[in-house]
Amino acid sequence: MSEGSGSFRPERRGEKVSLGHYLAVVGGKQLPFWWRSKFLAVPDDFSLLPTEQLWQTHDELTKSLHTKRSGNEPTQQAGKSSLLDSKVELTRRIYRSCTLCPLMCRTDRLNGETGRCGLKADARVFREGLLVSEEPFIVPTYELFLTGCNMRCKFCQAWEGVVRTDLGFKLTGSKLASTVERKSKRGALNIHFVGGEPTVNLLAVLVSLKSLKVPLPIVWNTNLFVTDEAMKLLDGVVDLFVADFKFGNDECAWEIGGVESYVATVQSNLLKASRIASLVIRHLVMPGHIECCLVPVVSWVAQTLPKVTFHLMLNYVPDWRAWSDKALSQRLSESERQMAKAIVKSTGLKRVLISE
Ligand code: SF4
Repeated sequence: MSEGSGSFRPERRGEKVSLGHYLAVVGGKQLPFWWRSKFLAVPDDFSLLPTEQLWQTHDELTKSLHTKRSGNEPTQQAGKSSLLDSKVELTRRIYRSCTLCPLMCRTDRLNGETGRCGLKADARVFREGLLVSEEPFIVPTYELFLTGCNMRCKFCQAWEGVVRTDLGFKLTGSKLASTVERKSKRGALNIHFVGGEPTVNLLAVLVSLKSLKVPLPIVWNTNLFVTDEAMKLLDGVVDLFVADFKFGNDECAWEIGGVESYVATVQSNLLKASRIASLVIRHLVMPGHIECCLVPVVSWVAQTLPKVTFHLMLNYVPDWRAWSDKALSQRLSESERQMAKAIVKSTGLKRVLISE
């Protein structure tokens, strides 16, 4: 991985658009959002509140996480209910008729039904470990690969974990607490949830966080193809979004990823992510998709989030069902690599990472 024209200095206070908050947490100057949510008290009878009122309480408390300066102010007494508990309760209510992502399956995941992600209420980890092959500021990173996804990208390299939701071990609070403690002693800078798609596993992740005792920042490696409600629940949990902006138009998103209304959803969620946490945007350049996907993606990023860290990935490898598509069954040509780099350079984005 090489660094483009930019550097990775923290931004001025108050700007979360790139890495400032995350680096402050790693540097011990701030506490992770999820940790603070664990200590912000909600009324003990919160679970009896009607959903609209519970959202109101949740939203007000979440907002306060962003207005209080350093976040070193636990307010909750041991055993009392917290903002994190209210997130668990709201997610549980959503799971009864699931609308966590725009596929809006409305299945009852608490009663054993599955939606298009293939998941019920539990989450399973099909791979985990301390990795050093990601963005330089997040490694060593403790990655947990969760099964299931709401998209079906033809070239998916994690397809086995996407399709076989029974793989691996069940994510529990005690398991997460013990592995994070061990990985932290071995130098992990963060807890990194990836998939599949972590957001479709939100309930099990939130419940597990309640048992966690090591305040490492949370990295959320996501397709951001999720609803407003899911984004609100992630606010106050995630410290750094590592978000894919995969497709530059809805036709390619449908043809390759199997979802509709992709571009507007992801653009809206990228903006939200930039306001509530630190953000890295990844774009994996696909062979034959420079004009239709890379150009609109990077143009939008440069115009809308010019301070963001943009990761241009030129390491596409065909996998899974990519062989059914003539363009996707190739690797990138040398001229496509050069063209992609020149296009990104011409946008003037300051913080660019390149993976060859
Ligand atoms: S998270 Fe899964 S069950 Fe829920 S709406 Fe999305 S695909 Fe459907």
